[in-house]
Amino acid sequence: MSFDLDSLVRPNIRSLTPYSSARSEFDGIANVFLDANENAFGSPVGGTLNRYPDPLQRELKEKLAELKGVGASRIFIGNGSDEAIDLLLRIFCRPGTDACITCPPTYGMYRVAADINDVQTIEVPLTQDFDVDVSAVLGAADERSRLLFLCSPNNPTGNILARDQVTRLAEEFSGVVVVDEAYIDFADDPGFLSELDRFPNLVVLQTLSKAWGLAGARIGIAYASEQITALMNATKPPYNVSSVTQEFALKALAKRPEVEATVRQTVYLREALRRELENLDLVEKVHPSEANFLLVRVKNAIAAYRHLLNDGIVVRDRSNVRLCEGCIRITVGTENENQQLVASLKKI
Ligand SMILES: *Cc1c(COP(=O)(O)O)cnc(C)c1O
Repeated sequence: MSFDLDSLVRPNIRSLTPYSSARSEFDGIANVFLDANENAFGSPVGGTLNRYPDPLQRELKEKLAELKGVGASRIFIGNGSDEAIDLLLRIFCRPGTDACITCPPTYGMYRVAADINDVQTIEVPLTQDFDVDVSAVLGAADERSRLLFLCSPNNPTGNILARDQVTRLAEEFSGVVVVDEAYIDFADDPGFLSELDRFPNLVVLQTLSKAWGLAGARIGIAYASEQITALMNATKPPYNVSSVTQEFALKALAKRPEVEATVRQTVYLREALRRELENLDLVEKVHPSEANFLLVRVKNAIAAYRHLLNDGIVVRDRSNVRLCEGCIRITVGTENENQQLVASLKKI
C-alpha cells in the first residue's frame, strides 16, 4: 500500500500558518527577555514559573530519544495521550465527512474524541479471543476512514494484539494506524517503536501516566514520522505542556531503575492476584493480561462491584461492555490493597 500523507491531511491543516510564539522565534542565548510580556519581577511562588515553558519540550524529547532510541524530531509530547488522540483526529479527519475505525472493546476516549470532533467512528469488534479482525477492518475501511486506533496491550482486555496482524494492518490500511501502547512497559513484548522506519503511516502512543507513575502530571507521547510529528506540533496549543510538568517528567525519567522495579513488582503481584482470584468460587475467568490490570469474569458482576464499593474498594464495572459481559476490571494495587480486595470478595 503506497502511503500519501499529504492527501490524508485536512486541507485547512495542510495550509495552516501555525502560531509563532516568542519562545519559538528566539532560540539563541540572551539574558534580557522582553519578548513575551512575562512578569519581569518573578513568580510569587518562586522558581522560573514567570517564564513561558519551552513550547517544543526539547530537553524532555532528548531524554526520551535516548531512552527509546527514536530521534527527537520523531517525538510529540502532549497534555496526556488524550491530547495526541484529539490532535490526530483534527489533523486527519474532516468533521462531518471522514471516519476513524476502532476495535471494541477498547479504550473509550477514541470514540469520545471522535464524537467531539464530529468524526464518525466505525466499530469493528475484536474477535472472541480479543484479537483484531484484519479482514473485517480492511473490509470496513474506505477512503474516508483516515485513522485506525489499535490498543496493545488493550484496555480493558489486557492482551497484546497479535503482532503479525498489526503489521498487516500497517501494510494494508490506507490511512494512519495508531497503536496505543499505554501499558507496553508491563508487557513481554517490545511493541512497535522499532517499526516506525518501516511504516510511514504508523503512530505509536505511549504515556507517563501508567508505569511511570505520573498520571497527575499529564504527559502523553506520540512517536511517528517527522512529517506527522511536525503536523502535531503545528496544530497543538503552543504551550501545551507546562514547565512544572516538563520538570517532573525529567525527574521521573532519571529514575528509570526505580520505575522498572515497580513495574516488575506490579507484574509479580498481578500474577499472584490472578492465582488468588482463580481460587474463588465467585470467579469464572481471569483473562490473561500483559498490563497492570486484570479483566475478571465473576458470577454477578454488578453485585460484586457494589459489594466491593461497600467495603471502600473501587474497581471498574465492565459488565455491560460487549465481549466483556460479566466482567470487572481490577487494577493491580500494592500487596496490601490486593489482599483487601480478595478478602472482600471472599465474603460474597
Ligand atoms: C490510561 C490510558 C491512556 C493514558 O492516557 P493519558 O491521557 O496519557 O493519561 C492512553 N490509552 C489507554 C488505552 C489508556 O488506558
